[in-house]
Amino acid sequence: MGEFELIRQYFVPLACSPGSQSVLVGPGDDCAIQRIPAGSDLVFSIDTLVESVHFPLNYRPDFLGWRALAAAASDLAAMGADPTCFTLALTLPEVDESWLRGFAFGLGEAAKAFGLVLAGGDTTRGPLALSLQVHGLVPQGTAIRRSGAGPGDLVVVSGSLGDAGAALQYLDVLSPSADEAYVIERYHHPEPRLKLGIALRDFATAAIDVSDGLLADLGHILEASSVGASIERSRVPVSPSLKRLTGSAACDYALHSGDDYELCVTIPEASWASAPLSLKQQLTVIGVIESMQGLRLDGADVGSGSETVGFDHFRRES
Ligand code: ADP
Ligand code: MG
Repeated sequence: MGEFELIRQYFVPLACSPGSQSVLVGPGDDCAIQRIPAGSDLVFSIDTLVESVHFPLNYRPDFLGWRALAAAASDLAAMGADPTCFTLALTLPEVDESWLRGFAFGLGEAAKAFGLVLAGGDTTRGPLALSLQVHGLVPQGTAIRRSGAGPGDLVVVSGSLGDAGAALQYLDVLSPSADEAYVIERYHHPEPRLKLGIALRDFATAAIDVSDGLLADLGHILEASSVGASIERSRVPVSPSLKRLTGSAACDYALHSGDDYELCVTIPEASWASAPLSLKQQLTVIGVIESMQGLRLDGADVGSGSETVGFDHFRRES
């Protein structure tokens, strides 16, 4: 099977989706064309995943397809962007049709779920790696950035944290318990908070998706906004399954481990008070933004401790 036949068979089907009028030209020409409606800003981001670095060797291809697009789409959620389309640069060691079928299936399921159509890509031979660029739209000037947090804003997070990080130790378990299966599922099938991100445009002053760990990612908001924060351990939401599996360590997973793709958001108190219950129910208040820089956990300074630092590819071990 040649490169073009491969693209036609496995990837072009992901380009045809009703309801996506914004992609005028998809795969097959030298470039894709997306029409940006007047009054919208285009919000876009690229993510690369390399085998053995971002996903395990011999990882199930359908899970990889889903996770790759979910991780990329999560950045759109964090900006409050409405997903439109994506491109895929895929590097494959060989043409393995059963792998391609699984990968295209998982990717296609995610694309449908998130409202993203495939607009084009690039296919090359080499060690397994993929880059996905995702595009989304916001009404002009309304994208939620990291830099808008102000003193007095509440720090809130969506869903529960720590499950995907804890799942790493159970991925090879042959017959997982119900609790193990729950956290494993959260690792394999993360759900980017796209609808929530869009709903937060009217309320949030800053947002980030939690991909590297809550303390590290909240740290990015604090730095970009030149503020500090105090958060409380006991308020950080953890799932009942994580609690039962890891006991008193559950909160540490929630604070330090990534891959959950929840949102961490800052919201002024007055906005929080006026927010609909349906929005508040998806969020948990864990602390408050302060003018004094640094991050305080139950009053103790964790601002520059190395334990707060999330995954960094280029950090040297000391
Ligand atoms: P060019 O050489 O002009 O850059 P390519 O040969 O790389 O074009 O790609 C041909 C067409 O196939 C392009 O429209 C490109 O977007 C599309 N394409 C290539 N790889 C993929 C892929 N993995 N998924 C979707 N479309 C792809
Ligand atoms: Mg060309």
